[in-house]
Amino acid sequence: MKVVIIGAGLGGLSFGACAARDGHEVVLIDKNKEPGGVLTLARQDGFFFEQGPLELTDLKPEESVGGFLESLGIRLKTVRDDRGLATPDFALLPPAEYEGPDWRKKRLKELFPQDAAGIDEYYRFYDALMRLRFLGGQKQTLLTKLQMLLTFHKIKKYENMTCREFTERLFSDEKLRLVFNGILADFCADPEEVQCFTLPFVNTETAFDKRIPVEKNGKLYYPSFRYVAGGVQKIAEGLCEYILSHGGTFLPETVAEKVLIEEGKAVGVRLSDGREIAADAVVGCGSARDFFTETVGLEHLDDRYRKILQDFRPMEAVFMLHLGVDYDPSPYQKQSLCYYYGSYDLHAAVERLRSGEYHEGKDGYLIYFPDRHAPDFAPEGCHCVTIYTVCPDRLKQGSWAEKKEAYADQLIRLAEEHLPGLSQHIVTKKIVTAEDYRVLTHMKKSSFGGVVPVWKQLNPPHITPVKNLFFVGQQSENGGGVPIVIGGAREAYRKAGL
Ligand SMILES: Cc1cc2nc3c(=O)[nH]c(=O)nc-3n(C[C@H](O)[C@H](O)[C@H](O)COP(=O)(O)OP(=O)(O)OC[C@H]3O[C@@H](n4cnc5c(N)ncnc54)[C@H](O)[C@@H]3O)c2cc1C
Repeated sequence: MKVVIIGAGLGGLSFGACAARDGHEVVLIDKNKEPGGVLTLARQDGFFFEQGPLELTDLKPEESVGGFLESLGIRLKTVRDDRGLATPDFALLPPAEYEGPDWRKKRLKELFPQDAAGIDEYYRFYDALMRLRFLGGQKQTLLTKLQMLLTFHKIKKYENMTCREFTERLFSDEKLRLVFNGILADFCADPEEVQCFTLPFVNTETAFDKRIPVEKNGKLYYPSFRYVAGGVQKIAEGLCEYILSHGGTFLPETVAEKVLIEEGKAVGVRLSDGREIAADAVVGCGSARDFFTETVGLEHLDDRYRKILQDFRPMEAVFMLHLGVDYDPSPYQKQSLCYYYGSYDLHAAVERLRSGEYHEGKDGYLIYFPDRHAPDFAPEGCHCVTIYTVCPDRLKQGSWAEKKEAYADQLIRLAEEHLPGLSQHIVTKKIVTAEDYRVLTHMKKSSFGGVVPVWKQLNPPHITPVKNLFFVGQQSENGGGVPIVIGGAREAYRKAGL
């Protein structure tokens, strides 16, 4: 079968690799020069920067992403690391000398003694969900099913609670609530709209100290955060090479304008230069609304699919500032990545985002050192610093092009509180705004990462009402992210039954 894939981002590449593996002829179309979408690198003055995912889960060969890549013969070197978390009042950073897996729990009890009982309850809840995750990945015997049932029974009382309700029930102090809910704002999600069972998975304790074991009784039990040595673009390069080595084709700098549909069936793709490529199956990705409105045509969908397209909520954009510096900032921030939260009121922060008001870094941002895991990213004697934050796709007033320099200077000023001397050591500065991301991802409204993990929200399904037309990538998955996008594309391929 000939499978034409519109968009060689992670979703399209993963679907394409499955099809190529099974002997199908794969044609990848992408408007960019290189495959990878947001996995491609930004370059400037001899420096390289990642402009998409930074730290990933499930990269070990025993886990979903690592296992999939290994099955295709793609071997990545990965490095486990941890991330820091700081608020205006306290920081939760791994102690210099390892204090065991419970150090965060102990530190939180010291900081919030009045909430000690709630903290204990949170960690019981955390343990139960981690156990359920582990058991769910095991062979399903009567014993595992019984163990799952008993474990679920312990947390069943919380199953109808949102993150806001759950954390308000357990913790009286809003500063403590931020420790667990803060990451939701990164996904542009209000704690009010996310189910509380999500919390342990976005706050895995092993992410906050790389010395915490991920194994229990000799079995992989917890997820760990890892970086791809040499940068995340290696995942895209590996998948694309695999497709090409299996007879596939990559058409760079090519825009797919229309999916050709005859009698309710996808039969090919028309490119913006007028060429047509016949296909037995077509796969789309990127912005679901753009793809189905313009490239497919809403008239080919049914009411249910149209309603999902109208209702689902993609994440907002990011403002990313890449700096090449001629000093080593790492003594000031020990972790490769640290979140600096600025506001405890996440509801208001998310409202601001949605209304087009940019917080100018005041609600929070993160600082990342890309060359920690990719020393070649910086010339000799220099280092890379990436500072970024979520932002609205379009500003209420003015454009990103007009305001980006001033906004970048503001982020540098804020970051300098943690990295003294930063502004004096900048040798190059690359600002990436929502407008740049729209171009990179071929989206009319930039949305980083995926879909806001709103409880019970339906996302555009992989199987579309048009026969032999499939949809993959970040906007087909709740939450988005690398493991979910790869897993979703593999699932889409399986369901497509090519
Ligand atoms: C700043 C940022 C930080 C992130 N951090 C993390 C993280 O820490 N951990 C994690 O797991 N995930 C993270 N993610 C999410 C993850 O990177 C994405 O979910 C995933 O890479 C999206 O892949 P995709 O294939 O859906 O989309 P994309 O990467 O957007 O790829 C789509 C490609 O299709 C092309 N395209 C679309 N339509 C057409 C057309 N008509 N013609 C030609 N080409 C077309 C686009 O140009 C693009 O190249 C992050 C993402 C961003 C942007």
